[in-house]
Amino acid sequence: MTSNALEGGCACGGVRYRLNDKPFIVHNCHCRLCQRQTGTGSAVNAFIESDRLEQLSGELAEGDFATGSGGTQTVVRCASCATSVWSFYPRLGRKVAAVRVGSLDDPSAAPPDVAIYVADKPDWAPLPEGIRAFDEFYNPAEVYPPESLARLKALLDG
Ligand SMILES: [Zn+2]
Ligand SMILES: [Zn+2]
Repeated sequence: MTSNALEGGCACGGVRYRLNDKPFIVHNCHCRLCQRQTGTGSAVNAFIESDRLEQLSGELAEGDFATGSGGTQTVVRCASCATSVWSFYPRLGRKVAAVRVGSLDDPSAAPPDVAIYVADKPDWAPLPEGIRAFDEFYNPAEVYPPESLARLKALLDG
């Protein structure tokens, strides 16, 4: 157990979880898929190795959705209130969870590192200040801090 553990949960309180490490990257994604899934202008997702994400309580339900890149994203929700708490993206599968930062008890603890797919951003939506923004995606080697790059490499090699 680390001192920087972050906890969160769904709207009804049934599902509770804990991040046992800092996320290695936090995306503010403005793609249309994220907009539709969340019903908002963008989504903020904290990426962490699945074995460092601990479910503490509740029952989960999963649903699959197509992604822009043609793969399948699995969205994981509370089975009772249907709040989405994290998802698995096609590239790294179930090795990495993308946790919905809004479901954390303290969303300020996981600020976005990079804004992506801003070409699809609604005209009225502001961009977070002080972070890089990309029309689509980016090269992790140019954006990730070295420690995060090492964690990504370990996942890709594993
Ligand atoms: Zn719930
Ligand atoms: Zn997106």
